[in-house]
Amino acid sequence: MNKYLELHSHRKTPEREEVLRAVCGMNCIFTLDDLATNMSETSSFIVSRGTLFQTLNLLEKIGIVVKHLVGHCAHYEFVTIRKSKVYFFCDNCGKMEAFHKAEINQYLDAIRSCKFTVKQPVLYLHGLCKRCERIVKEENNKKSNK
Ligand SMILES: [Zn+2]
Repeated sequence: MNKYLELHSHRKTPEREEVLRAVCGMNCIFTLDDLATNMSETSSFIVSRGTLFQTLNLLEKIGIVVKHLVGHCAHYEFVTIRKSKVYFFCDNCGKMEAFHKAEINQYLDAIRSCKFTVKQPVLYLHGLCKRCERIVKEENNKKSNK
């Protein structure tokens, strides 16, 4: 990150370093709110939402995080060696989870050889997370019992 900042005339600030440290500690897909909550619990550093947003965009440009625009808000993922390509997205609560299955990743890689040029083989599966599925079932049961 330091090299990129120097190359693109960005300042290396304590706030950016703290955000990067927090991003590296996130072990799942997160929103800006998740990161802000995590930092308020684990860091004595106070970083504004504007700084968080700008730093996340900078980290995306550098390639340290991947930004997923699904649903109403952006989700971010710290880029690790094992890149996820399949994601579950809950249409009810907006929760997003990576799904790791080698066969699906191989299939998505194979699509690259088709007539269409795939630049980013990513698959988003929309549905309900377990928690929301349970809530919907309970609501349906209440309605049918009336
Ligand atoms: Zn949900």
